[in-house]
Amino acid sequence: MARYTGPVCRICRRLGDKLYLKGEKCFTPKCPFEKRPYPPGQRSTRRRKVSDRGLQLREKQRARAIYGILENQFHRYYEEAVRRHGVTGENLLRTLELRLDNLVFRLGFADSRAQARQTVLHGLISVNGRKSAIPSHVLKAGDTVGWTGRGRNSEYFQSVSDNISSKTIPSWLNLDATDMTGRVISLPEVEEIGAKFNTATIVEYYSR
Ligand code: SF4
Repeated sequence: MARYTGPVCRICRRLGDKLYLKGEKCFTPKCPFEKRPYPPGQRSTRRRKVSDRGLQLREKQRARAIYGILENQFHRYYEEAVRRHGVTGENLLRTLELRLDNLVFRLGFADSRAQARQTVLHGLISVNGRKSAIPSHVLKAGDTVGWTGRGRNSEYFQSVSDNISSKTIPSWLNLDATDMTGRVISLPEVEEIGAKFNTATIVEYYSR
């Protein structure tokens, strides 16, 4: 299935919330959601009643949009989360957070998850000292994220390291700003993630 390549700000407007998909622009008055906080299209300001099923679907779409994941893969994550011990919604959320593209974003090596994905795909990122060009690579506690030789020699690396001190890093990650490497200290707790969607509603959507 093809990846969505249209204007991402429409997704925020369609789903009725700021999803922070564009990095810096999201924090400026240029954010289209600030100007037009209603769905795109004609007669979009008309209020429509949304069914419970519709609300569940919207929650799932919101999670998919935030992490930039296609439906099939997202469904696979859900099925894996069901099979594992623990609360399904929490398992799902942890898997999403531990994806390499998300970690690159969380460590401040990219302004958005989309940019993080490109950084990984271009072979600039390493995991435990070895290049990993797979954005969906799921890491575990103790793993480290760093830069390949090519990554460190890039202009992009220079601009990231110049700005790294302004980034806020989650408590379950550790960043060595001198060496520009990050480590997963522990698996993230749900409260530490601060998700902008309800995982229980997503579980309800799939378990119907
Ligand atoms: Fe969403 Fe960011 Fe676009 Fe605003 S600028 S609509 S928050 S992606």
